Amino acid sequence: MPTPSYQVTCTKKALIAPGVYELHFSRPEGMTFKAGQFVLFDVPLAEDPADIQTRAYSIASSPSEKDLLFCVKLKAAGRASLWIEILLQQGSTIRMQGPFGLFLLKDSDPAHVCVATGAGVAPFRSQIKWRLEDMKDTRPMILLFGVRNPEDFFWLEDFEFLANTHENFVFYPVLTGTEESWKGLRGRVQQHLPRILAAHPEAGIYICGAPEMVKDVKETCLNDFEIPKIRLHAEGYI
Ligand SMILES: Cc1cc2nc3c(=O)[nH]c(=O)nc-3n(C[C@H](O)[C@H](O)[C@H](O)COP(=O)(O)OP(=O)(O)OC[C@H]3O[C@@H](n4cnc5c(N)ncnc54)[C@H](O)[C@@H]3O)c2cc1C
Repeated sequence: MPTPSYQVTCTKKALIAPGVYELHFSRPEGMTFKAGQFVLFDVPLAEDPADIQTRAYSIASSPSEKDLLFCVKLKAAGRASLWIEILLQQGSTIRMQGPFGLFLLKDSDPAHVCVATGAGVAPFRSQIKWRLEDMKDTRPMILLFGVRNPEDFFWLEDFEFLANTHENFVFYPVLTGTEESWKGLRGRVQQHLPRILAAHPEAGIYICGAPEMVKDVKETCLNDFEIPKIRLHAEGYI
């Protein structure tokens, strides 16, 4: 069966952190997806709209939310980055295909440990919200969300709300930078895994973000913490 394609309308565009846009699109009638999946947008070249290439973006809204939500970290001179920053406006329409992907939290895991940096938190927003609010999942769920500076965080209120209303969900924002006033966890996200894994030794580990970070965290898990490959799941934002 061919992958469904839809014409969607941008209903909101907002800068939510330096270089990070939150995008809302109308959800097409009948479109279904699983939490953690992504879509492909047809992205035109700014200087030649007939020149189209696709770019992948994880759906950050949960399958029960009305609109489709995304977050995009701009890349210098990137095709989609320029399109989002300059051309995309509320009311713009674009072709989208999907959903695609198998980056889904497994029902067979006794606990879920999610590790994200930057925009890599997108599929986890969808997955965690869906599991807690819709599936009423009571298994332990942990999110480590790393950025460089405090102003690079976004959606903190969403994750803090979920953590305050569900005792099985623990949220750790982690800072790699040196901001002195920061009271939370510091360092690279993987530094905090041993303590979490000591409490949840059989957890599935899910990693999402820039490809270098994903590779790094995976290697640390495999080589230093000797976690079996079968428990590691990753989505690199190539
Ligand atoms: C499954 C999946 C899900 C994803 N989900 C998200 C998400 O939710 N949020 C998100 O922010 N990203 C996500 N990504 C990444 C996203 O698809 C894009 O790769 C990213 O937004 C950059 O796209 P772009 O068109 O702006 O940059 P591109 O045009 O692809 O360029 C990327 C970088 O390479 C440089 N470059 C391009 N061409 C050249 C060249 N010829 N020589 C030298 N440098 C060059 C550009 O300047 C730019 O800095 C996801 C990726 C995958 C695979």
